[in-house]
Amino acid sequence: MRSGMMIEGFKLGCRCGQVTGRIAAHPRWQGNRLTCYCQDCRAYLHHLEQADSLNDFGGTDIYQVPPAHVSILTGHDQLACLQLTKGGVYRWYSKCCHTPVGNCFSSFWPMVGIIHSFVREPLDTLVGPTSGSVYCRGALGRLPDELKGTRSQKVMVLRLITKLLAWKLCGKNSPSVFFVNGEPLAAPQQLYSCPAGKG
Ligand SMILES: [Zn+2]
Ligand SMILES: [Zn+2]
Repeated sequence: MRSGMMIEGFKLGCRCGQVTGRIAAHPRWQGNRLTCYCQDCRAYLHHLEQADSLNDFGGTDIYQVPPAHVSILTGHDQLACLQLTKGGVYRWYSKCCHTPVGNCFSSFWPMVGIIHSFVREPLDTLVGPTSGSVYCRGALGRLPDELKGTRSQKVMVLRLITKLLAWKLCGKNSPSVFFVNGEPLAAPQQLYSCPAGKG
């Protein structure tokens, strides 16, 4: 694991290599690695038939950064978007090989959660271990303490809100490769027609 105040830039890419991108070097405090055990993240990976990208307890390994640090270099036309329900989280993937790419709330919120499957080297090497887990109650089976991380859900959520506000104040939400003039780059496909289908 590399230490220090800065995270070096690193490569992103789908499995087949058509979509490539990069996360620019950024201060360590601007990145946040976490594991999400919510059903929605799991449904997204299952829909893409990428359940093997989940950990043993159904968790998704995610690295959150301000969108301004994320660039897509090739394969823009292969980026597609889905939402579980209308108004839900925008979940990006590559059409070419169904690699889960990342999650965003909207163009307003300055955060992209890059899914580990879109990172070409192990996150442990690039950014260090996960800082904790969220939605642990959604885990499949009883989560061992070491997977929960050292921080509680409350602390993790507080940490995320603090980061979002700091990024917002720094203007880190713009530009985002996933939105053009506030509209998603590709029209999201909705998996369920009403919120009742959620989860
Ligand atoms: Zn691909
Ligand atoms: Zn989730």
